[in-house]
Amino acid sequence: MNRIVSDAYSAEGYVELGNRLLDGLPADARIALRPHLRIETLGVRHVLAEPGRRVEQAYFPLDCVVSVAIVMRDGSGVEVGLIGCDGMLPVSVALGDAVPVQRMIVLIAGTALVINSNNLRLLMATHSAIGRALLCYAQVMFYQAAQLAACSRLHLLEERCARWLLMAHDRVRRNDIHVTHEMLATTLGVRRPGVTVAAQALKAKGSITYRHGTVFVLDRQRLEAAACECYAAVTAHYARLIDAVASSFHPAGGSIVCSRTDRDHEP
Ligand SMILES: [Zn+2]
Repeated sequence: MNRIVSDAYSAEGYVELGNRLLDGLPADARIALRPHLRIETLGVRHVLAEPGRRVEQAYFPLDCVVSVAIVMRDGSGVEVGLIGCDGMLPVSVALGDAVPVQRMIVLIAGTALVINSNNLRLLMATHSAIGRALLCYAQVMFYQAAQLAACSRLHLLEERCARWLLMAHDRVRRNDIHVTHEMLATTLGVRRPGVTVAAQALKAKGSITYRHGTVFVLDRQRLEAAACECYAAVTAHYARLIDAVASSFHPAGGSIVCSRTDRDHEP
């Protein structure tokens, strides 16, 4: 489903869209972006980018979650980034390269704002705020990839599962996360039985429960306590860079953050 982003603007001006990067931009930059954006609904396993294949579009997720993975010759891979309403993809487009080196696949279905990648680069050149925000986000993703690489080598699977669920929870902004143990195992580059054991341990601690391909976050604090340090590290790095840039655009009101609308969903 495609639709133009006309309903994102009221008579008074811009209305918050729900993507943290876009909503942090100054008004003139958002108005310049307006005619180039459209909304697409993206299904599970929809491939948005393949290694070495030129991309024509860039995506700013609203409530879908996209996994960024390095893929080996035998088809195996491991996640090096998780992108939702906090960011955009492919980051390489923002750096002038339309040929990403990672696979980007929708893990949790939802919507995204889509823009032609050439148009986005032109807007980055003519609106410095867009360029600053996206280059800053590229730095965030470099760090996230490095942290996740260290995480997969150094931390226990239960800690990594908790970290992943927290990152997904932030991005879907609901307590129900539609992910199977199989998908989580593939994403983390491990075997499914290991994920099942980790999920059982997290359930026993009262942080989550799950059924029928959905994980329900029951106690966010317990989930944070079960996660490795990587969740707090990548979250703090994002806040330090992106929120600081947004604050520089909105000195009076500070940064704009995603609204959390459906956190009260119960299993
Ligand atoms: Zn970790």
